[in-house]
Amino acid sequence: MNPIPFNRPYMTGFEIEYIRDAKQRNMLAGDGWFTKQCHQWLESNVGVHKALLTHSCTAALEMAALLIDIQPGDEVIMPSYTFVSTANAFVLRGAVPVFVDIRADTLNIDETKIEAAITDRTRAIVPVHYAGVACEMDSIMDIARRHSLCVIEDAAQGVMASYKGMPLGGIGDLGAFSFHETKNVISGEGGALLVNRAEYAIQAEIIREKGTDRSRFFRGEVDKYTWQSVGSSFLPGELIAAFLLAQLEQATEITEQRCRIWDRYHLLTEPLAQAGFLRRPHVPAECKHNAHMFYVLLNSGVDRKRVLSEMKRNGIHALFHYVPLHASPAGERFSRIHGDLINTNQLSEQIVRLPIWIGMSESDQVRVIDALRSACELADCESRS
Ligand SMILES: *Cc1c(COP(=O)(O)O)cnc(C)c1O
Repeated sequence: MNPIPFNRPYMTGFEIEYIRDAKQRNMLAGDGWFTKQCHQWLESNVGVHKALLTHSCTAALEMAALLIDIQPGDEVIMPSYTFVSTANAFVLRGAVPVFVDIRADTLNIDETKIEAAITDRTRAIVPVHYAGVACEMDSIMDIARRHSLCVIEDAAQGVMASYKGMPLGGIGDLGAFSFHETKNVISGEGGALLVNRAEYAIQAEIIREKGTDRSRFFRGEVDKYTWQSVGSSFLPGELIAAFLLAQLEQATEITEQRCRIWDRYHLLTEPLAQAGFLRRPHVPAECKHNAHMFYVLLNSGVDRKRVLSEMKRNGIHALFHYVPLHASPAGERFSRIHGDLINTNQLSEQIVRLPIWIGMSESDQVRVIDALRSACELADCESRS
C-alpha cells in the first residue's frame, strides 16, 4: 500500500492560468494587478483597514515589529509553544520574548497568565492561534487596552477561522498570515500583514517598500519618492500573487473540504479516546476553526516515539510539533520565561499530528486511525511489560 504523506499541497486548477495572465500583463515586480486583487480580497474577507502581501508570515511579523517601533530591551509576551518566527521577529530588533504557559485544552497562550508577566518594558502581546483555533481574544484585547500594549496576532495558521464571528488576523492591532505550502491557502512561500489601525497604514507601506514612500508616489500623493525611514523589501512578485489569488478565491471551498476530513478524524478517534490512549482537540464554542491541523494528545503512559515509528512502519507519516522555544539554544539566550511552563513542557511531548490534505479518501483516514490504534496498543503493551 502507498504511504500516506503528512501534507500534500492542494491546487485549485486556476493557478497556471492566472500566472500566464500575470506574464501577459508584463509587470512581474510586486504591487501589480494581482497583488491589488489579493489585497482587496483580504481587506474585505478579513475586514481589515489594510492588507499587504509579504513574502512570508515571518516577513509580516518582522514588519509588525518595525511598525510598532520595537526597541532593544522591550519585552513581548508570547507562548513558547510556537514557531521560531514568532520570537525571531522581535529578537531581530533587540527585544526579549517573554514566554507564558499555554492552556491545556487549546494549546493556545493562557490568557489568565498574561497580566502577571507584564512589566514596564512590555510593549506587545503576540497570541498564536494554534491549529486555527482562536486564542481567548476578548480577554487578551482587554488586558492590552488596560496596559496600552499592542496586540499582534500570529494568525499564520488562522486563515478563514474566526472568534465570535470575527476573522482571525483582523482582531488585534496587527495580524500576520502565512501562505506557506504547508498551510491551508498557499502560494509556496507567502504571507500578509493585516493592519487594523488606520494610523499604521502609510508607515506599513513605507517599511515594506525599502523605507520609501513609493506607494504614495504611485497614488499621486507625493511628486517624487524618497527614503523616509528604516525598511526593507518585504513584497512578493506578481507571479506569487497570481498563484495566491487562484487560492484565495477558493478559500471557502478549501476550508469546507478540510473540515470534512477533520470531522471524520474526530469521529474515528473517539474509540481511542474512550480506550484511554489519547485526548482529542478541543474547539471552544466561540471559535470556528479552519481544520488546519488534526492532532491527538497521547496519554502520558503512551510512548510517542514508539507510536510515530510504528505508524511510519505502516506507511503513515504522522508528526510531532514544536520544541518549545524556551528549551531551544537561541531561546535560552534571547528570551525569558514567566512562571512555570508545565503545559508547554508536557503537551509538546504528547502531541501527534495526523496527515490532513484535500484529496484524502475515507479509506486513507481509516488506515491512519488503524495504524494509530495498533501503534498505541503496542506502545501501551510494551510500557506495561
Ligand atoms: C507557519 C508559521 C509561521 C511562519 O510562516 P512563514 O510564512 O513560513 O514565514 C509563523 N508562525 C506560525 C505559528 C506558523 O505556523
